[in-house]
Amino acid sequence: MSSKRVYNFSAGPSMLPEEVLTKAASELLNYENSGMSVMEMSHRSKVYDGIITAAEAKLRSVMAIPEDYAVLFLQGGATSQFTMVPMNLATKSGVADYTLTGVFSKKSYQEGKRFCDARIAYDSKEENYSRLPKQEELVLTPHADYFHMCENNTIYGSKWSYLPETNGVPIVSDMSSCILSEPVDVAKYGVIYAGAQKNMGPAGLTVVIVRKDLLGEPQEKTPVMYGYKLMAENNSMYNTPPTYGIYILKLVLEWVESLGGLTAMQKRNQEKAALLYDFLDQSNLFQGKIQKDSRSMMNVTFVTGDADLDAAFVAEAAAAGFVNLKGHRLVGGMRASIYNAMPLQGVKDLVDFMAKFEAEHK
Ligand SMILES: *Cc1c(COP(=O)(O)O)cnc(C)c1O
Repeated sequence: MSSKRVYNFSAGPSMLPEEVLTKAASELLNYENSGMSVMEMSHRSKVYDGIITAAEAKLRSVMAIPEDYAVLFLQGGATSQFTMVPMNLATKSGVADYTLTGVFSKKSYQEGKRFCDARIAYDSKEENYSRLPKQEELVLTPHADYFHMCENNTIYGSKWSYLPETNGVPIVSDMSSCILSEPVDVAKYGVIYAGAQKNMGPAGLTVVIVRKDLLGEPQEKTPVMYGYKLMAENNSMYNTPPTYGIYILKLVLEWVESLGGLTAMQKRNQEKAALLYDFLDQSNLFQGKIQKDSRSMMNVTFVTGDADLDAAFVAEAAAAGFVNLKGHRLVGGMRASIYNAMPLQGVKDLVDFMAKFEAEHK
């Protein structure tokens, strides 16, 4: 690691692989003899067409996205998808089932209610969002236009450990904080969406993967920029796409490929997460907050049980080069986001630091 860089445990925007940043820096002033930066290029130019085409092809190959799915490169963040999903999909029965498993899934439900008959299939509020529902706990509407889930709950640090059986109702998954962390069977989903700034690249790019038969006419009065069909027909070029973000995504995908793809990524991530959870499970000071079968591999949340001690830990950790460990303002405590770009060494060093802190605060 370059000497002045810290281990950044931010939940997002978050660490990018150093190889990606170095490559982007080397090409910043003059991309492949074009005489200009990718940022300065027309999105309709031949050279930029090479970038966006390669980014899509690489995403398709890394995630094994079937041919009958469209890949959209949009803006507006995952939050815009909370609106775009009902506008584009709640067009038949007008009913959609939502699982409320954390902060973002609740927001998606609240937004969904504005554009369709959004129903609650499960709400884990009573359990402080400490676990995900079991299949038999889900209340499903047979004729729903879609079933919405947030696959990895970034703020609470929980993750679905299975994909629900919805009996043909398309699954819409917010994968913002777990996309590219492990292989997924895309064919089991109707829509997958993600803000890029956790595991894919910089903020400003939003990736949507949508089964082509779901690209119907959106609800009336859907803003032109919010129509999946129009965006798909125009290859994400109805207007100017987030050009630089797409370029960085391409570099991130090349980095993922160079390490062996998503199977290798999953192995690395499991190893990192196990180090941290194993430490938490034996610690007398720190405790994890999520039930074992619902733990996130990407966002590890924990507390000491004493808010002052939590604050002291966060401050001392930052001084030692482990930054952004403070939990989300809504939940407090600590959160270590260990996305793809966080090296194993970063987690090892953090665990050593936590052990030292524990020894000093017996
Ligand atoms: C970060 C995040 C969001 C919000 O993303 P924006 O790009 O800021 O709109 C939504 N869902 C999940 C799961 C997230 O992690």
